[in-house]
Amino acid sequence: MKVVLQNLTKKYPSRNKNSRGEVVAVNDFSFEIPDGQLIGLLGPSGCGKSTTLNLLSGLQKPTSGRIFFGDDDVTRLPAEKRGVGVVFQNYALYPHLTVLQNILFPLQNLKGKDRLSKSAMLEKANEVARLVQIDGLMDRRPSELSGGQQQRVAIARALVKMPRILLMDEPLSNLDARLRLQTREEIRRIQRETKITTVFVTHDQDEAMSISDMIVVMKDGVVQQIGKPQEVYDDPVNLFVAKFLGTPPINVFRGSVRGGRLYIGEDVLLRVNGVPDQQVFVGIRPEGFVLNDRGAFGCALGRVEVMGRDISVVAAHPNAESPTVRAIISAENRANVAAGEVRFDVKPGKVFLFNQATQERIRFKTDGRGSDT
Ligand code: ADP
Ligand code: MG
Repeated sequence: MKVVLQNLTKKYPSRNKNSRGEVVAVNDFSFEIPDGQLIGLLGPSGCGKSTTLNLLSGLQKPTSGRIFFGDDDVTRLPAEKRGVGVVFQNYALYPHLTVLQNILFPLQNLKGKDRLSKSAMLEKANEVARLVQIDGLMDRRPSELSGGQQQRVAIARALVKMPRILLMDEPLSNLDARLRLQTREEIRRIQRETKITTVFVTHDQDEAMSISDMIVVMKDGVVQQIGKPQEVYDDPVNLFVAKFLGTPPINVFRGSVRGGRLYIGEDVLLRVNGVPDQQVFVGIRPEGFVLNDRGAFGCALGRVEVMGRDISVVAAHPNAESPTVRAIISAENRANVAAGEVRFDVKPGKVFLFNQATQERIRFKTDGRGSDT
């Protein structure tokens, strides 16, 4: 089912009694989610992810804007009539019911013509239990399950009515690291098998990148960028998006453009044709550095960490926005980095420029370092 968000806005009255302002939790959000896709809604805490999800589920009503499921305008439709399945971070299972009873619960609440026979209900419950691989645990109570198993039960309960849309709000946040990895792959598999249009909320960029067909990056209620994970990573529209995606994070420096050349300190990193002279933020991805004793860019060497396939060069630079600069270098290219200074060339496609005032991306064309090196 295609889902359309049309100029969706949600304002809350301010919690601060002394201020008359309001909190704009979601600000003019427009997006068309293609049928059958998994969308990762990504951003820091408080950016409006849960509010967006609650608007889709019907738990909250928008201040303005509209929501369509397919061609149906569901903006004013109550939650129980929308045909959505919702999974929360804290599972929200009924503790006194068994796994089977928890999964059956949404079916038993159906009224009138939607109500199934008892055997049809059981069949459906068993089917989704198999799908999420908890069919061996049907007689247990939630307290007798691990966190990962409880979350599978919650997913089964959300799926049993075959919802038009599946909504998941930080579903993996209560799981330990290893289970989180495993469960996210499970969610991906289940979503692929059922082909239910899914919105997956997370503050974890790694999680969103790995699981999503498309990601939506939000900040302060405003959508920053929408795209395939790799496209957003390779082509961020502003400094916020560039910094939010990627581990280790992008390295940010204060630099300047003078006469079509990009400077950090006195080092000339690249020609940047067509960019007017100005102060800029320079973002360089960790994998954008190439070790070269006569490279364009010098940093003070901190230490070298060997990580198997790659080595990580930890350095420092007076113009860097953070205390350490991190370069990830393929282990084969290991050079002599014993000296106090380490020099790099940079890969132009891994270097992004941003306006220092607006933090918007400045695009450039380059032919490398130029002839004067
Ligand atoms: P996220 O899920 O991304 O952490 P939320 O959607 O929960 O963000 O919140 C977005 C903003 O709206 C935050 O500033 C939050 O404090 C505010 N907010 C959320 N719910 C309410 C509420 N019921 N009343 C007032 N403000 C709220
Ligand atoms: Mg939230």
